[in-house]
Amino acid sequence: MSSRVKRRFIAGATCPSCKALDTVSLYFENNVEKLECVKCGYAESQTDDNVKSQTREKENVIGIFKPQ
Ligand SMILES: [Zn+2]
Repeated sequence: MSSRVKRRFIAGATCPSCKALDTVSLYFENNVEKLECVKCGYAESQTDDNVKSQTREKENVIGIFKPQ
């Protein structure tokens, strides 16, 4: 189990790939918000400007991933 980067799981989030619930973790790498499913390995980077400003609020409501 790697713990190099600080990450936390997003409650209620569903993986867009394997559809598993509560397996998606959120962490920052090089100041880029990234999502990773610990079950299937799905990874996604959030680089939109509005993501940063809405991160705090988004944490509470995230559950659906918008396709790129
Ligand atoms: Zn998954």
